[in-house]
Amino acid sequence: MNPFRFSTDALDTAALKSGMRDDHCGGYAEFEGWVRDHNEGHAVTRLEYEAFAELAEKEGARIVAAAVQKFGVIRAACVHRIGSLAIGDVAVWVGVSAAHRDEAFRACRFIIDEVKHRVPIWKKEHYVNGDSGWVNCERCAAPGAHEPDSAHVHAHTHVHAPAHAPDYSRQIALREVGAEGQAKLGAASVLVVGAGGLGVPVLQYLAGAGVGRIGIVDGDVLEPSNLHRQAWYAHADCGRQKAELAAQRVRALNPAVRVEAHALRLDAGNADALAAGHDLILDCSDNFSTKFLLNDLALRARKPVLFASVYQYEGQLQLVRGDDVSTCLRCVWPEATRDGLVGNCAEAGVLGPVPGVLGSLQALEALKFLLGLKGLDANELLLFDLVTLSTQRVRARRAPDCVAHSNGGVNASPSSDDGALEVEFAALADAVAAGFALIDVRDAHELLAQPLPVRGAQHLPMSKLLGAAPSLDAGRRYLLVCASGKRSTAAADLLRSQGIHGCRSLRGGLKALKTPA
Ligand SMILES: [Zn+2]
Repeated sequence: MNPFRFSTDALDTAALKSGMRDDHCGGYAEFEGWVRDHNEGHAVTRLEYEAFAELAEKEGARIVAAAVQKFGVIRAACVHRIGSLAIGDVAVWVGVSAAHRDEAFRACRFIIDEVKHRVPIWKKEHYVNGDSGWVNCERCAAPGAHEPDSAHVHAHTHVHAPAHAPDYSRQIALREVGAEGQAKLGAASVLVVGAGGLGVPVLQYLAGAGVGRIGIVDGDVLEPSNLHRQAWYAHADCGRQKAELAAQRVRALNPAVRVEAHALRLDAGNADALAAGHDLILDCSDNFSTKFLLNDLALRARKPVLFASVYQYEGQLQLVRGDDVSTCLRCVWPEATRDGLVGNCAEAGVLGPVPGVLGSLQALEALKFLLGLKGLDANELLLFDLVTLSTQRVRARRAPDCVAHSNGGVNASPSSDDGALEVEFAALADAVAAGFALIDVRDAHELLAQPLPVRGAQHLPMSKLLGAAPSLDAGRRYLLVCASGKRSTAAADLLRSQGIHGCRSLRGGLKALKTPA
């Protein structure tokens, strides 16, 4: 039997219990939630449960599986009634068999609590006075609603939503949303990459709307210069990890959202694992390398990614579905793999509301996507000029020779970056602005005699280079630097052969810089 299922018929708890028998088990714990005859001062005559079964079953099965793993129990199952229920009916049943009683109790408690918080189920109560109504979440938060003596029956009467959850009535009232749409949002899982200018409005609206699970990826700490466009955060939080801060804000806004913070930079090595289990990915990053990594991931994992970008007063939205027939980023921008082509906020400057507008639109499109409403087409770009307030829809076609499409998103990022081994820059600051991480391959005494004119370079002398590949990021772009360009060219060649395809060498070395050290 499915570990979590719905039943329109009365539950035969004796049969359910006998299904949990196991000779390895010394303990069995069971929970029954019953329909009681009153709620919040109303005399209840009967009630109805409604669930968006397909999505709710998936979430329920995840909960039971998590309980088995977390508590090491042998069998666990949960059945929830839907349809019309009478007073005294069993609304929800949980059974857990385990080697010992303690894990059985704890797993049972875990399952009923999680089901109550996470599985989208609605309850309609019918009252003695003839009224009826879908139960309002605000009642959950009413004083006394969680008194221990009502605990055993409380679970089933409020399974539809957690205590203190926001009231979604203003969006449920929309015909396009309704109870079914709200259930879809509750069962949805979205990964948000970047918790900055775009990510802040995106996270606010997704959390507010009740998207069930949100992952947040951001490797940066909050800086005072972020605050003018990331007004969700506090000045006092500067220096703290943005992913953690954003997760904290999401929890404060909507405790019903399951939020996971990943305080790291998305790269080729972790992208697939981070995206796993999410239905939709939102690119709220400010750099091309992340965007192209996500683009290739979309094609590889066949997972939709909704991109937003901001440059000074301009913004852009694009949906990459990750299928064979619709456009991807590389179809549109086959050459634009360099971060320097379009600067990010740090270099170019931006007014706070610009990412705010684009992030809000991105959140809107994400919700429409999750609700299955008509939105941004997969074969168009939406361009905004926030100086003139003009909008442009540009048709974009799937390019027949797209490098990402032709190899299914596998290694598209590094290989398209391969190109010439040597590259020219007038100043190292230009290379940094173009998205290169600098690696100085000179020996220590050379560094002391002639320090690099920019900060942040990694020191990796030739002698250490052979074993260096594992510490480098295959998805990143590196510029290797030495005195004359000879060693750095050899080093770049070597690292490429070890799979670090984004390596280049500064042609002519430090001697060739127009802005010397
Ligand atoms: Zn493509």
